Amino acid sequence: MIDEPFFPTTDILKSRDQAQHAFHERAARVAVETFGRQVFVRAVVEVSNFCRENCSYCGMRRDNRGLARHRARLDQLAELLVHHRPASVTDVNLQAGEDPVVVREVVLPLIKILRHETPVGLSVCLGTLNRSLYGALKSAGASTYIIKFEVADPELYAQMEAPGTFEERVEHIRLLAATGWNVSSGFIAGLPGETEDALLANFSLARKLPLAGCSVSPFIPGEATPYANAPTADIDLTLNCMAALRLMRPRWVIPAVSALNLARPGSGYRRGLRTGANLVTINLTPPGLREDYVLYRRDRFIMTEERILAAIEAEGLKASKQSLADYYRQKNALTTSAPRSRLERVAV
Ligand code: SF4
Repeated sequence: MIDEPFFPTTDILKSRDQAQHAFHERAARVAVETFGRQVFVRAVVEVSNFCRENCSYCGMRRDNRGLARHRARLDQLAELLVHHRPASVTDVNLQAGEDPVVVREVVLPLIKILRHETPVGLSVCLGTLNRSLYGALKSAGASTYIIKFEVADPELYAQMEAPGTFEERVEHIRLLAATGWNVSSGFIAGLPGETEDALLANFSLARKLPLAGCSVSPFIPGEATPYANAPTADIDLTLNCMAALRLMRPRWVIPAVSALNLARPGSGYRRGLRTGANLVTINLTPPGLREDYVLYRRDRFIMTEERILAAIEAEGLKASKQSLADYYRQKNALTTSAPRSRLERVAV
């Protein structure tokens, strides 16, 4: 008999205490069976806080006129990433608000330098761009595109003023995957106005999309946003969503996001690692830039290499020596050479 692929129920997403503990253990076990005790270690560099979008859940929205806007300098980032990146880092993610200027002037030349001078895998998280910029980024040497669908309910998507329309966002996710990118998407749990059905819709959409990874971020009320006074998402709901993603798609790369520490200072991040997350991110944004990169608020909890390595060691995990980019390359080679099992065909 073939097991049905996992899909969460509202009850499991609301689970607490013993039931929740058993659920997280199950998800963590599946992660270990699939990836061993290895977690990928990536560095993120935030290269610009200019943004032409106006998402209601984000402090970098264009209507936030109180924010000093900056773009990083190419020479500064090249020096940092070529010569001073921490030894544990195998991949680098270049992230920005939706700012095509920084893509052309900083990100593209930086990727070329990194591709030439280092072995790191390269991810980008740069928002909805056009085909030609996607193509240029890929030709330069990036291989993973992080583009969250944020919320799968089209009405809530519009209400949150998320980028473009919901349909366009999904179209871009599909376009990126169809043009050879490893696409990682994600959603926000606990948005103001989110119903139980809207939360479940995130899983229905995620499992239909051609993704290599997926994240869940807890809603954190951002400074100078229309939802500044809304309640922070329940950390347990977020962690249950992470465990559900792991069980739904055992082979996905699922990050422990730094916002877990804002949702539950002190323990949120480590609890994320106990739900089967297998990607951690060290923040290497140079001081002077990071203070104004305010997705949520200024009192950011910066994930340094020391904090990250301490958290994974405390959870009995190890930093992967293999880069995320190599892992995807191997996985893609296997997928294209081997016929898919019936289970995998059903799950798509
Ligand atoms: S979430 Fe991204 S696209 Fe939306 S306002 Fe913030 S930086 Fe811009």
